[in-house]
Amino acid sequence: MFIILTKMKTYKSIIFVTLLIVQVLLSACYEPVANTSDDFSEDSPETISETNTSTDVTNKSENLETNTASEPENTSMTETTKTETKTAVGFRANLEQKLSQHGLSISTVANESSPVEKRILNEYGAVFLTKATPPDKTMFTSDSEVNAFQSKAGSSSESIGGATIELQTAAMEALKKAIAEAKQSGVKITPRDGAEAAKRSYKKTLDLWNSRFEPALKHWKSKKRLTDEQISRLKSLPIKQQVQEVLELEKQGIYFNTFFNNSILYSVAAPGTSQHLSMLAFDATEFGNKKVRQIMAKHGWFRTVQNDEPHFTYLGYQESELPRLGLKKVTKKGGEFWVPDV
Ligand SMILES: [Zn+2]
Repeated sequence: MFIILTKMKTYKSIIFVTLLIVQVLLSACYEPVANTSDDFSEDSPETISETNTSTDVTNKSENLETNTASEPENTSMTETTKTETKTAVGFRANLEQKLSQHGLSISTVANESSPVEKRILNEYGAVFLTKATPPDKTMFTSDSEVNAFQSKAGSSSESIGGATIELQTAAMEALKKAIAEAKQSGVKITPRDGAEAAKRSYKKTLDLWNSRFEPALKHWKSKKRLTDEQISRLKSLPIKQQVQEVLELEKQGIYFNTFFNNSILYSVAAPGTSQHLSMLAFDATEFGNKKVRQIMAKHGWFRTVQNDEPHFTYLGYQESELPRLGLKKVTKKGGEFWVPDV
């Protein structure tokens, strides 16, 4: 009996050690793989494989450049920070490190058991790595939460292109530099849709959500896919739960976007999740101009929300630093986007 037990223990140890080695090997040679199981993904498999091939190559070469190029910058840091900076590998490790500088952690920022919050972190989470003040929640649920964050982060206002634009101060300074450089190069950077291009209120994101949610309720009632009871229940739910249930209904083909044929999240952000609430986003009219995107990137502004082409996010880094932070470049028809490499 003892021998059997010992043998079992030995086998268990061997299995455990083997699993450990496999895990280490897997994480060491991890290649970004598209999340094909993503319920919300709009991409055809062809697009995904094309994108990933080009992304992998870019990431690897840029990674090499970054590791050497970023050395001098670190010299002014303390010994501890230096070690941390070097050891943080991948998006989540960098994220944990950046958040801790603001007294936050992944678990305080996102409830990852919620598919919506998990998605916001893993798909649009580049914003949490910003050099400015990152949002302290993946999903704000009230005006007062948003107001508290906005006043803590601080902001500056400027009149740009005839609109009053409000952003976190570091983001605004970088935008002003980008606009000045654009002017010298003979191109313009102007806000799309006026003041809406930058800071937004929680109410605004809720109104946008309702502008899709309510017509869809009527539509699906007329199609007899939703009953009055279901509708009044959905309307009465706390917002997080309402978003959750809308996404569940969409799995059954009851879609809430403008044309009732796709996920509402392709049409509007879930309420309380827009990067505009953090005052770290700017929608530029001239997003289609590659020169404009290069100038924005030079000043720390990158597109981080796939398919939202006019939308730029203030990260504050040079482009060559992004792969080291665990972000990957995805190239689409409309140009490049920087997203978490998870
Ligand atoms: Zn935007």
